[in-house]
Amino acid sequence: MNHSFRIAAREALARAKTEIDSQHSERLAYAALELRMSIEAITYDRAQAYIEELPPEEYNTWKPKRLLEVLIEIDPRAAMSARFSLCKETKDGTPDPEAGWLDLGEERVFGLKEIRESYNRLGSYLHYPTIKQLKSGGHNFEKLRASCVEIAAKLEHVLAAKLFNANFKCLVNFECEECSFKVRKRFQPHDLKLEATCFTEGCKAIYKLERDTKDQDFIVRRKVHWIECTTQDCTHSVRVPHENVQEGNGWVCPQCSTEFVFMLGVARYKDEDVSTKP
Ligand SMILES: [Zn+2]
Ligand SMILES: [Zn+2]
Repeated sequence: MNHSFRIAAREALARAKTEIDSQHSERLAYAALELRMSIEAITYDRAQAYIEELPPEEYNTWKPKRLLEVLIEIDPRAAMSARFSLCKETKDGTPDPEAGWLDLGEERVFGLKEIRESYNRLGSYLHYPTIKQLKSGGHNFEKLRASCVEIAAKLEHVLAAKLFNANFKCLVNFECEECSFKVRKRFQPHDLKLEATCFTEGCKAIYKLERDTKDQDFIVRRKVHWIECTTQDCTHSVRVPHENVQEGNGWVCPQCSTEFVFMLGVARYKDEDVSTKP
């Protein structure tokens, strides 16, 4: 079920404007609070468009900046505004110059720069002035009013766009070998190698995706390591999934019954190998 974050963002903005218009300086803190709520709601709305690809541990991320950063990791275009146009295609897949372009409109995103410039600036007015601030006259309400007016105008501009949450994607779909969850991984046309993680709690299986040079599809392989047993005369190799390579994890060799455990260690580089240091 989708939540109406966009409507909530508009309602919070309207309440903020009422507080700004009241002309009472002490009401400006409420305007600042409502503007922050509007910024949060508009960012959650963007995140909702990526819900299938958003790791569940990020669902509770409430800080808009952090959330937008996660979305940018999924899709570099998540925080970009854009104008969309349609054109008839010719047989060879290029735009038909005679058909002309149909302008669909503009999508406006409240991006990382806007969040950085607005969110914390408003937050500093949500607390009682500190002793240091009081010595220099307390909160500067004139400055706060100017900030509220400026940020409200930016939010209004973004929320007035008729197109929103456009999400163009190429996806690789495959079933997780461990838990049968349908894993979806976004890729860009130029991507040749990727890594994908199954989001199921308790699974977190990691996969390597490599572009097939012949048919251009992605070949999906489980990311595993084969580790040879170090016991003398034992020939067994154990298959360790990549996500299990963690300090404290281990296994028992089925051939010689030796117990192994992953531990942190330090290896000394030879002087002549310094160029290989990470
Ligand atoms: Zn899985
Ligand atoms: Zn062994």
